[in-house]
Amino acid sequence: MGHTAVVLGDQLLRGHPALDGAERVLFVESLPMLRRRWLHRQRAHVVLSGMRHFAAELRAGGNVEVVERRAAPSLASPLAEEPGPLVAASPNAPGARAVLERAGARLVPSTQFLTSPDAFAAWAEGRRRLKMEDFYREQRRRFGVLLDADGGPEGGQWNYDPENRRPPRDMPEDLRPPEPWCPQEDDIDAEVRCDLDAHAPDLWGRDAPRRFAVTPDEADAALRSFIDDRLPQFGPWQDAMVPGEPWLFHSLLSVPLNLGVLDPLDAVRAAEAAYRSGGIPLQSAEGFIRQILGWREYVHGAFWLRHLDGANALDAHAPLPGAFLGEQSGWNCLDSVVDGVRERGYAHHIERLMVLGNTLLLTGVDPQDAVDWFARAFVDGAPWVMAPNAAGMALYADGGQMTTKPYAAGGNYVNRMSRFCGGCRYDPKERTGPEACPLSALYWDFIDRHRERLDGNRRMAMPLRSLAKIDPAELDAIRARANDARAELGVRPASSP
Ligand SMILES: Cc1cc2nc3c(=O)[nH]c(=O)nc-3n(C[C@H](O)[C@H](O)[C@H](O)COP(=O)(O)OP(=O)(O)OC[C@H]3O[C@@H](n4cnc5c(N)ncnc54)[C@H](O)[C@@H]3O)c2cc1C
Ligand code: SF4
Repeated sequence: MGHTAVVLGDQLLRGHPALDGAERVLFVESLPMLRRRWLHRQRAHVVLSGMRHFAAELRAGGNVEVVERRAAPSLASPLAEEPGPLVAASPNAPGARAVLERAGARLVPSTQFLTSPDAFAAWAEGRRRLKMEDFYREQRRRFGVLLDADGGPEGGQWNYDPENRRPPRDMPEDLRPPEPWCPQEDDIDAEVRCDLDAHAPDLWGRDAPRRFAVTPDEADAALRSFIDDRLPQFGPWQDAMVPGEPWLFHSLLSVPLNLGVLDPLDAVRAAEAAYRSGGIPLQSAEGFIRQILGWREYVHGAFWLRHLDGANALDAHAPLPGAFLGEQSGWNCLDSVVDGVRERGYAHHIERLMVLGNTLLLTGVDPQDAVDWFARAFVDGAPWVMAPNAAGMALYADGGQMTTKPYAAGGNYVNRMSRFCGGCRYDPKERTGPEACPLSALYWDFIDRHRERLDGNRRMAMPLRSLAKIDPAELDAIRARANDARAELGVRPASSP
């Protein structure tokens, strides 16, 4: 008898390698997975909708028997009931891998990423520091992307990042981001909604019409619309944060990429083709390609190489503040971004890193709590993407293996790169007193608490020199404001290491 292909919710590739020669295809919707704390309602929706659309397509194709186990008590139990041998693609999460291995499934290599964990490990071998930029340049050469006739970088530079950090104050008045592509919900979505109401009524976040692509056709439409309408402006405004413009010029492609319905190389090639045909500035095409060919592949490889389980280089042990679940803190940047996450399951990269991640870093929240929240509260969450991004990049839990310095910033950064501060009761330029921006006080308190750890890091030399010039009375006032700020978030005072 032929085998049963097990298709997991984040591996909805139409060319799924386990389908080859399969007699049956098994989709399991596990209830405990749906009932995890902090899981966003819209996250649960896109995964179930994606699985059910794929199952319906296979059933309509008529070449294979399709079995859907909905509201299953676990992933393991339906596997144990399968009559034939099981074959699955190598999973994207260690937990799923362990369950499949225990069930005796044969794991075949997944084709979802362009760089396998083994290939990444070979690249990392012997390197003291895993610099994303080195990896990215190699990826450009390997796939022949944005190279000139001599094999050098198109335009003479590998990276146009410095041109891609324009603050919102430079944004022309009449520049409005076009509405992103949006799918039409169908009967499958309606059924998913009913099932979630029945089986997982306590999910976090608001329910709303589906905004993200979950099938290859939808992903193709979303990609085309992004390339035509939003990519031209993606580069310059990549880091800008504008209240009321949650998507700005971002692609919204992380959901279809992470579900496996959009091939990363298709997205990269589409951006390159748009540049070569003359419609797109190089800085935008390169900026977008770097995110996918560089960052996405890099964090996936780094996850399987290091896992970062339990990493906590800064000894941070505070629990997740209630403000991350919707309690109002009075900090306009934080409340606005968390409200957006609750509404849409989405915030763009700089909001995730420099508002959410920065707040967690400065207040000393335990990296594992941060990883769990990020992995569940967003529509595109996944363990492989979260440990390197949240624990490694945002919280410096790996002690600097991914980044050369902590991504710590005070209110001045948020003030420059966003329009949040204008609507806030605090003053980003102040770091002491009741009107002072909590992030500004927390920033200097963070540098102060970790001064010994950061000493010797060349990139921290300037803030450490500035810290040394703060007079003791002002430093005491900063510490007092930082303690108040932590109290505003319900976090107890942090102690020095
Ligand atoms: C603390 C933190 C948490 C994050 N959580 C997630 C997450 O749960 N899921 C997720 O897919 N990404 C995550 N990211 C990475 C990135 O922020 C999102 O991929 C991006 O914001 C998704 O929106 P978009 O599709 O509009 O992206 P765009 O800004 O349009 O970027 C294009 C694509 O590049 C890829 N990309 C860019 N940066 C990264 C990165 N650092 N890691 C992985 N992929 C990247 C994504 O696939 C994204 O769709 C996180 C980053 C940080 C700092
Ligand atoms: S003043 Fe501080 S808390 Fe308020 S929005 Fe600006 S950075 Fe955030």
